[in-house]
Amino acid sequence: MRIDCKHVWQYISAYIDGEVDAELRERIERHLETCEICSAVLDSTRNVIVLVADERVFELPAGFSERLHDRLEEEFLSET
Ligand SMILES: [Zn+2]
Repeated sequence: MRIDCKHVWQYISAYIDGEVDAELRERIERHLETCEICSAVLDSTRNVIVLVADERVFELPAGFSERLHDRLEEEFLSET
């Protein structure tokens, strides 16, 4: 089974927290190696988590591009 970008986004917080099983983790890592979008999402999500952990105001990191954000919203909205 191959995972696509939507799967990666769905599991990205669990992945960062180390809450995914080894098999899924490997699939995500393999996907991240070849997908620039998901690598950017991972970086952005990490930055957001650091901000939250620091008890600072939640805001999207500077590196999180508007276009990427719009695309993510579109994808999530189309899923429901
Ligand atoms: Zn991807």
